[in-house]
Order: sequence, then structure tokens, then C-alpha cells
Amino acid sequence: MPKTAFSYKKALEQDKVIPFVRKKSAKGKFTYYLPDADTRSLFGFAEEQTADAEGCLDIIHWGDRDAYAKAVGDSAKTSAVCCEDFRAVLPSGETMWLCGVSTPQKRRNNDIVWTGFWVDATAKRAKEHLSVQILSNLPEAVVIFDRHGLILNASEKFCALIHSETPDLRGKSVFSMLSDNVADTLQQYLLLSTMKDQTVFTERLEIPNYPPATVEIEITQKDGFFICVFRDISVFEKREERLKYLAYHDPESGIENYAYLKEVFPKVVDQAKVTQTQVAVLSISPDSLGQINAVSTHLVNTRLATAVADRIRACLNESDVLALTYAHHFTVLLTGVEFSIEIEKKIEAILNAFKQPVLVDDVEFDFSVSIGVCFYPQNGDKLEQLIEFADLALDKARSESPASMRLYSSDFSMAAAVNRNMRRNLKAAIENKEITAYYQPQVDIKTGQIIGLEALARWKTPDGLIPPADFIAEAEEYGLIDALTDTVLDQACSWNQKWYSMGLCSVPVAVNISARQFHNETQLLKLVNHALDKNGLPPYLLELELTESSAMYDPKNACRVIQNLLDNNIRCALDDFGTGYSSLSVLRSFPLKKLKIDRSFILDLKEKKNLEIVRATIAMAHALNLTVLAEGVETRQHFEILKSLGCDVIQGYLFAQPLSAEETELLLMRWDAGLASTGKGL
Ligand code: C2E
Ligand code: MG
Ligand code: MG
Repeated sequence: MPKTAFSYKKALEQDKVIPFVRKKSAKGKFTYYLPDADTRSLFGFAEEQTADAEGCLDIIHWGDRDAYAKAVGDSAKTSAVCCEDFRAVLPSGETMWLCGVSTPQKRRNNDIVWTGFWVDATAKRAKEHLSVQILSNLPEAVVIFDRHGLILNASEKFCALIHSETPDLRGKSVFSMLSDNVADTLQQYLLLSTMKDQTVFTERLEIPNYPPATVEIEITQKDGFFICVFRDISVFEKREERLKYLAYHDPESGIENYAYLKEVFPKVVDQAKVTQTQVAVLSISPDSLGQINAVSTHLVNTRLATAVADRIRACLNESDVLALTYAHHFTVLLTGVEFSIEIEKKIEAILNAFKQPVLVDDVEFDFSVSIGVCFYPQNGDKLEQLIEFADLALDKARSESPASMRLYSSDFSMAAAVNRNMRRNLKAAIENKEITAYYQPQVDIKTGQIIGLEALARWKTPDGLIPPADFIAEAEEYGLIDALTDTVLDQACSWNQKWYSMGLCSVPVAVNISARQFHNETQLLKLVNHALDKNGLPPYLLELELTESSAMYDPKNACRVIQNLLDNNIRCALDDFGTGYSSLSVLRSFPLKKLKIDRSFILDLKEKKNLEIVRATIAMAHALNLTVLAEGVETRQHFEILKSLGCDVIQGYLFAQPLSAEETELLLMRWDAGLASTGKGL
């Protein structure tokens, strides 16, 4: 072959052709003839270069040899044009991608001679390679296919989305890989593809043996090809579901909440309209929340709420709705109510369900529930209003007796308005220091000495003093009792410290503690220690009074709290003794110092029954080493009888009414000067 004059190297650089001749002798020996010297020196070849038995030159990359040998072999067999496509590894170490064609010709001597050319496709291939790399690493599932649905390329994410085991999907039908609904939609798009260049739709992709995924498909048409991007939006769907769940459920217990109730209420009402039935709205709450809150941790409270919800649910129909509207407070919608007997039965079942204690983490919670009831449409058509009415009925039920039920009556709303006013005023009174402690002396019956003072709360208003009987229960109910006790404690400690430092007296001042507070030991200790520290009063100059009924409500807990207070040098007295139901054995276990006989026994001491009770109480208290105080001693006769019965201390109008701090100070001063008219002369 004649030697050409132009530079093949230059031609290569300019993407020009590299001619070559390949010969396969009848014996099967392959020889290449390269006409250009520059090409030869680039490849490190002689003018005639021998190849291997399959026609591969030794510059052909190992990875491409099989394909190349097959292409040459097929062409030799069929005399078809041979597709030249291989990487050449040059002596310099560089790799050059050569593409081209060669045409075979069979000679008479059975030699086959191909004349062909190669072109340097390195740059082009590098670009293609890069795009394949980019495509396969795309964070989205992408597939490119032609008008017939044959895949030209697909990203790894697409393979993952359709759970394909083979990563190379080229040449396969895209439709066969997708569920029918998705394939149909794609095919429809392909048919209409002249109409729009891009479209987006959402479909549910079902792949056998895998959970279905919701995919958003964006399909773009370009140069006769289709680029399809699949986005799995199931995760957003799940997130949305989770958010919806959180919005409609209590996050801790998973019980439906008020928002859920609000969501379903219109549907329940619509159904009631269609069936011409009523909806009963029930407010259900345990009767002894104080005990539950005092003894349970947050986790136990959550489990308890779940257990309570389960018990209530067991008494309901499937169409009824239950929600935890606030802590330990449930609202139920009884649907399709036609006859009152149906509701009565369900309510009875719920009340009965709490006759057995609820067991949570091996702890038994023995409590009853009460229920307030109102009706849609009879009492209203707004959910908020109906819940408020049912709550008012519940309050009424609870105030009457445990484990009871009450139907709503409009009178409750008026009473609630009065209460609301009371609550506002009481809160303001506590904040504005209108709650003042008065002090009533306690006197030793034998010596006539003042041995203690009891602090009693008074609400000072422009119209006069309001007695504690009119606001203590309300303070407890509205959650204001801690603030109220804090005020009384602070004043009592502050004045007693003053009187102590003035040398007027060194006797304990007694402060009344409500039952609810007694069940929250930590909070109580915090409150008491704060008052003592703030005022610098030694703990032994403070006494706490708890009523007999609150101590007996949960004797084990009471015993622990009394002991804990005693360990902190604070003594406890048992107030209103005789009004509760103490058992002697329980009483014996209390580390008490003082027992106060309730005023109701002293009031009519002449009556034999009362006299005997007081006599027995004094004997029993002395046997337990307790000091006995009689409350409400109003007359000389009371005094004489009590003295004869061996009572230790008296408190009552006979000696002094509860006095303001200033009056008490005067009394103590007069006492100090030996001027007290009653005391020493008793
Ligand atoms: P209590 O602790 O048993 O207090 C004794 C009550 O008997 C006081 O009523 C006192 O004024 C009254 N009293 C004392 N001697 C006589 C008497 O000779 N004749 C008559 N008729 N009454 C007498 P008060 O101050 O109205 O307190 C009533 C109850 O309110 C107290 O009973 C106590 O349980 C409660 N209380 C008072 N202050 C507080 C407080 O700061 N916190 C709490 N949680 N309860 C308080
Ligand atoms: Mg008292
Ligand atoms: Mg009392």
C-alpha cells in the first residue's frame, strides 16, 4: 500500500480517519497493514503487524478483546461489515478509544481482506461514559427509553425502585417492569406525546412481593426519546400519616384526643340526623385524681390512662367515639341513641367496670369513676358547649358521691358562672395578699400556759372576713391550694419568728394542710422548707395539721409523709379526730404527737354518748403516748368536763377566738406581762 503524505497523528487529533487493512489468511493468520508511519510510531507497530489467532492486535485493551474477536469472527463468517469499537492501549500508557468500520472481501485463495478505518472517539466516549456515570448515580430513579419503550439507559435508583436484580436494563421493555397501571399511563402518554413535551402524574407502583410505593412520574420528551423520572413519595405519605396521627392522638398513650373528637363530631352529627337518633356526650373521670397524681410517675400515669381507656372502650359499640380530652379525663360520644335505656346500660357498665382495681406495673389503683351526660341536639349542637355541659354534670356527680352519674341541667351552668367568678376572685385575693392568717391559742389545761397557736386562713374583703369554709374547698378544686398554703405558711412562720425573737413565746404555730397536698410529699416538703428557710424559723416551732379523713385515705402514704416531716423536725397533729374512720392499728403506726378531738363532740359534751366517745378517745390517745387537744371549747363547763376526763390541751372561744397577728401579739405581750385575763386564771 502506498505511503500517504499527510500526518495521521494530526488526523487523529483532528478526528480524522485512520485507514487500515486486515487480512486473514486461509490458514487463519491475521495481519494488519497500517499505511501511515506516524500511526505506526504512535502504536509502536511495524508496517505489517501480526495479530493473534482471533484478529486482536496486542494494543487492544484486554477488556474489549472478546467483543472485538467476536465482531471480527462474525464478519468473517457472514461477510457482513465489521463494527470496530475498542480501546487501544498505546506504548506511552495512554488509552485511545477507536471506533470505525471495516468491509470484508473474500479472495479466491480463501484469504479474507478487510479495508476499513478507525476514528479516535476518546473524547466522545469519555463524555458518554460520564453521562452514563451521572445517570447511574442520580439520586432519583431515571429511565430513558425510545418510542417503543425499549430502555436506553436507567439509573441505579430506578433498578432499586423496580427491585431489578440485573443492573443493566438496556434493550429491555420498560413496560414489562412496571405495574399495569403505571405501564398503561406511560403508554397513553407515548401515544399523546406530540401534544406535550413534559407531564407529571402520580401512580401507585406495585411490584410483586414488595410493599407498594406511591410514585410521582415526570416524563419528558426529547429528540424522540423519553426521559422518565420516578420519585417515590411514599415516605412523604408516611410522614403525613404520622403527623396526622400525632395531631389526633395523645403522643404518650396513643389515645385519640380532642382534635380527633372535633374531626369526627360533624360526621357523628350527620349520621344522627340521617338516622334521627341522638348523640350522648359523656364526661368520665376518676373520682380520686389526687391519689392518682400523688403516687404515680409520668409513665405510670400514661399506662393508667391506657388501662382506663381500655375499660371504658370495652363497654362501647364500635361506632361510639372515645377521646382523652385532658389528663385522666375522657369524653365519649355514644352514637345512634334512640332509647334512654341503652345509655343507662352503657353508663352502668362503665361504672361497674371500675369496681375492680386497675393494675399498672404491679401497683393496684382502686378508684371509681363518675360520669356527666348531656345530649345532642337536646342540649346544644356545638362540641365545645356539649363537652362543657357534660363536664358540669360530671362535677355535680362527683360532688354528690363517688361512682355516680348526673344528667346535665341548665342550673349547673349558672352555678358554674358563680364558681368561675369565685375562682377569679380567689386567685386575685391570693396574689394580692388578701388571704390573711389569724391565730388561735392552744392552752395547757393544767397550767393555763399557751403551748401552741393555730394559723387559720381568712379572706379579707371590704365587706368583712370570709371564713375558710367558703373558699378552702374551691382553692383545692381550682388548683390554688398550694398558693394559699404558701401564703398562710409564710405569714405564720414570719410572725412566729418575730414573736420568738422578741421573747414573747417559743411555741409551735400549727398550719392546716389539705388532703391533696398531703399526697404530694415532695411538693409539701419543698413548700414547708422554703417557708422555714425564708423566715429563719426553727422547724420545731412549726406544726402541720392533717385531717383524720385525709390521713386515712391512704394511711401508708400518710405514715411515710408524717415520718419524713418528723425526720425534718416538723411535728404533725391529727385534726378533726372522730369525723373519719381511723382504725386503732393504723393510728398506732402514725408517728404523731398530737390528736385534736373534733369540735362536734365538744359542742354537746353533756350528751352521754359524746362524753363517752371523748373519754375513750382520751384514754386511747394517752395509751398511744399522744397529747390530746379538744377543739371548740366554748364554756367553763366544757373546760371542767375535759379537765376531769384528763384532756391535755384546749382550744376554743373560752380562751380566745382566732385573732389577727397584731391582736395575737398584744395577747402574747399581755400574757408575758401576766395580764391575760383568761389564760393564767383558768
Ligand atoms: P380546724 O383546723 O379544725 O380549725 C378549727 C376551726 O374551729 C376554726 O374554724 C376555728 O375558728 C373554729 N373554732 C375554734 N374554736 C371554736 C369555738 O370555740 N367555737 C366554734 N364555734 N368554733 C371554733 P375556721 O377558722 O372557720 O376554720 C375552719 C376549717 O378550715 C379549719 O378547721 C381547717 O380545717 C380549715 N382551714 C382553716 N385555715 C386553713 C388553711 O390555711 N389551710 C387549709 N387547708 N385549711 C384551713
Ligand atoms: Mg386545724
Ligand atoms: Mg379541727
